[in-house]
Amino acid sequence: MNKITSFDQLDLVEPLLQSLKDENYSKPTPIQEAAIPLVLDGHDILGCAQTGTGKTAAFAIPIIQNLFVNREANSESARPGDKKGQVKTLVVTPTRELAIQIGESFSKYGSKTKLKHSVIFGGVKQKAQVKDLSRGLDILVATPGRLLDLIGQGFVDLSRVEIFVLDEADRMLDMGFIRDINKIIKLIPAKRQSLFFSATMPKDVAKLADGILSEPKKIEIKPASTTADLVDDKLFFTDRPNKKSLLLKLFKEENMKRVIVFTRTKHGANRLARQLSSSNIEAEAIHGNKSQSTRQRTLKKFSSGEIGVLVATDIVARGIDVEGITHVVNFDLPSEAESYVHRIGRTARAGSSGVAFSFCDKTELDLLLDIEKILNRGIAVLEDHPFHSESALLKFKELKERKSQSRSSRPRGNRSGGGRGQRSGGRRGAAGQGASSGGPGEKSNSGNTRSGKPTKKNSSNNSKAPKSRGNSRSGQQRPPSKGKRSQTKK
Ligand code: AMP
Repeated sequence: MNKITSFDQLDLVEPLLQSLKDENYSKPTPIQEAAIPLVLDGHDILGCAQTGTGKTAAFAIPIIQNLFVNREANSESARPGDKKGQVKTLVVTPTRELAIQIGESFSKYGSKTKLKHSVIFGGVKQKAQVKDLSRGLDILVATPGRLLDLIGQGFVDLSRVEIFVLDEADRMLDMGFIRDINKIIKLIPAKRQSLFFSATMPKDVAKLADGILSEPKKIEIKPASTTADLVDDKLFFTDRPNKKSLLLKLFKEENMKRVIVFTRTKHGANRLARQLSSSNIEAEAIHGNKSQSTRQRTLKKFSSGEIGVLVATDIVARGIDVEGITHVVNFDLPSEAESYVHRIGRTARAGSSGVAFSFCDKTELDLLLDIEKILNRGIAVLEDHPFHSESALLKFKELKERKSQSRSSRPRGNRSGGGRGQRSGGRRGAAGQGASSGGPGEKSNSGNTRSGKPTKKNSSNNSKAPKSRGNSRSGQQRPPSKGKRSQTKK
């Protein structure tokens, strides 16, 4: 099949294409390119892909399309459960957050199709969920516990399920949901289409997939972190009040032409954009409180070079697909470690290289630890600048040491307690992880050992960057790039 460069080539119905345009999705991601045609053709899918690859849309888009077309063609049989509690598509996912996110994706992509969907999860009252179910649904997104609970009470009937999606299967097993999943599978018809997604595919997950899927098509998408490997990322320990001055200094000294600066809050984005503009750096904020048309206008200005800096929150950042971003600045570290990969992936697009600067103050040390876990490496620290916070760096070292000690005192093979970071980072190379805290005084003495692969490094934009020193675990520090990245200090 020829390379798909636009959603138009996927024969999608107009209401879907419109919604994707509204989302500013210009082209399918690799997993969407691979999965959408197969799901539309009715195949089962075994997808090995992480969050961040566009996996949700990869199953949501063809599901919406199939349900929509089916309903148009045969309004009688395609109506969602005529009886209370019946559902046509069941998406099971391990956590409430993921369930909400997936529900939001179905809302966005299906907004013009009038398909009925709902999300159910535990920890909240069931009344509203039961009410939604009573109408019958085209799509139900659920966490296993609440789903079984409501089935037990007679509010959900899975006997009419046509499409079954199991999302984040490895995490599901890590969280001990295997029995629940097996119970659910027994309640859905054997004749169905099944889509199975997992970030990793260890034996127990592959076995589960085997029991669910029928002649599946396999899709494997490299983790998003490989994009992060192309980015030259650097870390600044600093105090919160100094972040702005540090940013201005970087703007003065680095060749920062097209830059996205990430803040945690919308308010923070507005304020920083104003402050940059008043320092003659043309910047505009973009976040969820801005109308769609304002966002689009701002993006246009950014793409055309009219403004050089976009100050953004995570919510909108993932849809930003602008070529030639030279730098990403994490003014605030993201609260979700995976967002780090998404954020820095805005630069280094299409195989080109880019630079990311991250600011970390004392309140963000835990977040940094999560990020390192997910990257399975440390980030080079630049400390030779007037805004360096030695105390933040020392605290981080202590924290890392403490965590690594508590990890190494845990029995081997204990997989419980794995958050997102632990899953994606841990399994890839947990062996040496945490063996040493690294940090100041510890020289990085080896190349990047992630997967044993050499990493493409670059640093064309950072010739004046302050000195760096490794904070990484021993053996996991990336090598300084030739003559450009400052040497790791002893
Ligand atoms: P997911 O892997 O499903 O968590 O998606 C990661 C992020 O990518 C989400 O914020 C989506 O909104 C965004 N996204 C998904 N597909 C596309 C696309 N084709 N173009 C741009 N952004 C996308």
